[in-house]
Amino acid sequence: MQVRYSKTDISLPLAVMSGLVLLSALLATILLVNRFDLAARMREQKLVENAMLDRSNEIASCVLPQVVWDDAVRHLDNKFDLQWARDNLGVYLHHSQGVDFVSVVDRHGSVIYNSIAGADAESPPISSKAPLVRNLLERVRAAEEARGPLPANVYRSGLPAPIKASSIMAVSGKPYVVMALLVEPDFGRSRLREARAPIVLVGVNIDADFLKVLSSRLLLDGLHFNDGRSDKPGEAHSVARDALGRAVVTLDWISARPGRKVLNDIGPVILLIASLLLSAMLLLYQRSHRIATGLVASEARATHLAYHDTLTGLANRAMFVRRLEEGLSRIGRNDGTVTVLCLDLDRFKEINDTYGHLVGDELIRQAAGRLAGQCRAHEVLARLSGDEFAIVQVDASAADAAALARRLCDVMTRPFELSTGRVFISCSIGIARSTDAATEPVELLRQADLGLYRAKQTGRSRYCFFDTEMDMMIGVRRLLEEELRAAIRSGALTMAYQPQVDGQGRLTGVEALIRWCHPQRGEISPAYFIPIAEQCGLIHELGIFTLRQAFVDSHQWVGLRTAINVSANQLQAKDFLSTVLQLVAETGVDPANFDLEITEGVLLRDDPDMHAMLAGLRDAGFGLALDDFGTGYSSLSYLSSYPINKIKIDRSFVANLSRDRASKEVVTAMIRLARALRLSVIAEGVETIEQHAWLSSVGCPDAQGYLFGSAAACEEIRRLWMSSECGGRSRLDHDIPALVA
Ligand code: C2E
Ligand code: CA
Ligand code: CA
Repeated sequence: MQVRYSKTDISLPLAVMSGLVLLSALLATILLVNRFDLAARMREQKLVENAMLDRSNEIASCVLPQVVWDDAVRHLDNKFDLQWARDNLGVYLHHSQGVDFVSVVDRHGSVIYNSIAGADAESPPISSKAPLVRNLLERVRAAEEARGPLPANVYRSGLPAPIKASSIMAVSGKPYVVMALLVEPDFGRSRLREARAPIVLVGVNIDADFLKVLSSRLLLDGLHFNDGRSDKPGEAHSVARDALGRAVVTLDWISARPGRKVLNDIGPVILLIASLLLSAMLLLYQRSHRIATGLVASEARATHLAYHDTLTGLANRAMFVRRLEEGLSRIGRNDGTVTVLCLDLDRFKEINDTYGHLVGDELIRQAAGRLAGQCRAHEVLARLSGDEFAIVQVDASAADAAALARRLCDVMTRPFELSTGRVFISCSIGIARSTDAATEPVELLRQADLGLYRAKQTGRSRYCFFDTEMDMMIGVRRLLEEELRAAIRSGALTMAYQPQVDGQGRLTGVEALIRWCHPQRGEISPAYFIPIAEQCGLIHELGIFTLRQAFVDSHQWVGLRTAINVSANQLQAKDFLSTVLQLVAETGVDPANFDLEITEGVLLRDDPDMHAMLAGLRDAGFGLALDDFGTGYSSLSYLSSYPINKIKIDRSFVANLSRDRASKEVVTAMIRLARALRLSVIAEGVETIEQHAWLSSVGCPDAQGYLFGSAAACEEIRRLWMSSECGGRSRLDHDIPALVA
């Protein structure tokens, strides 16, 4: 089965592929940019978290010198000194280190001092019993217990790491870094009273100042507290939580988004590349679409060409045979019939030869159009070759077929208007029918062809049904071919000579005519067997026989001209001239005493080889006579461009002289034409004295015809010539008629 492609089969995958490539490139870019940005945001978050921790440690390192101090031990543990606490913790830490509140918790867990914003306060802003504060205090106590009592010489034995704990927490709804630090001696000049030391609690508000420090270090764009409003584009967050995991403060900033930045920087370039790529893809798509369209069209064209005739657009032989086979295969199922009509344009070849192939093609096209106009949709009309058409009819009666054939014949007889002028043709049709599904298409075509042959034979412009008797005729024809072949070889063919006379009835020449006396069939006319010889290729052998015999016989009538018929097929043989010259040499004749009679069809083939052949014969000395003049398509131009020196007015004009005026006019014109072109002229078929008299009166005294004798054997012509030379008869059977002056 044949696979057919549509345009989309080819261009769609390409379009999808191109789209996918572009889409995946786009997706990859977006993914990459997002990944870059995400990594950057996570790094920034880490930085913010670390900076908060750093800031807490910084605050601790500012507070520690006030807490890990021999003086602090003395004034907070040994004997609580309110003034000292006020000066060195409350006031100092607030004003120099920005601490917002301070509390002192004694070894029993009681708050013994409170300061808020550098001033003494009744109670701390957050209770020491609050879970988060308690947690801080417990962590410090646990570390104190774990470390154990300090040695007496703390300084010398090396100061252990200070004990502290810190946490972020909300105090009165505001975020604070709260720190608990254990009071300890630094140089060991004071000693704690007991194992447990007081703890100093400090709180630093995470406020605008805190933020300022953070943002100056981190260089983050627009770092601010989350104000609960919706995010600005590109905003990142960091949430600081207390020990219980509750969010205390959220910091927002505009993330650097390096991916987006890179994208912004190289975006135009990417856009340019993408648009270039897109244009390239579009171009590719368009091209592929065009190519695909072309491919699909040429596939359709190829299929069409395989089954159609390029000149007429009709079905061709392949399609015709297919349809015929289909029709025949259907017969079995429904008792149907298949009818084939074979159609041939009459005299097409002559028009083609006369006006050339272009005009011939024009005629074929117009004829095809007319034929198609007569066929119904289900009747398949095909051009089989040259001027040969055929039609398949399915389930048509004989009457239907005959009606169609009549219509086709009628439509063909109307004039055709071609670029070179108006032309009349006709067509012949052969019809064959079959009711047998087993019939071979070729056989049905052959039968229709025989019908066509019969239609042509019986006068053209008609149709003829095939009948089985035609097959027998073919048999007879083949037999005749065989017999003619044998006749040429066995010498059963003879030559007879018909006299030609001048105005006074004096013998001037003879025309050599071939004779075949068949042992069973009797005399067979050359008008019948010459065309057969031409068709089966015997004409060359036959021609050589004619020439040789006429040359040999001509020795019997020295002084008379001898005309010999030469058919077009003979002239087409490349070696014709050399063969003739060889025969001339062989028989010792002078070509100047001979006229070779050719028909007009020869001249219509306006080909250089024919020109050369005729010129060669003329150069050798032969006269060239145009036989049957007036029946073909002679035109002045042909006559003047070929080396013709005689025309022979066809006997049909002579026969009609007495009947119709037109013939007289035509013959007069022919004679005038011959005179103008300095050509000799002779009339053939002259049967009456009146004809000869009239022809002589209009300038054509030379004649040939039954009036002066039919073709006779060589011996008889010799006798006639001898007697006429002695002033005797120049007529074979009758007395020379009195000539009308
Ligand atoms: P054609 O060349 O036109 O020959 C003249 C034909 O007219 C001859 O017929 C001749 O018998 C016939 N004829 C002569 N006088 C009259 C007349 O007064 N009235 C009528 N009605 N007919 C007359 P034929 O011999 O039957 O030859 C027929 C054609 O066969 C010739 O026509 C010629 O074309 C061809 N032919 C004959 N012999 C040869 C030949 O040797 N070679 C070739 N190639 N063709 C030949
Ligand atoms: Ca002739
Ligand atoms: Ca003739």
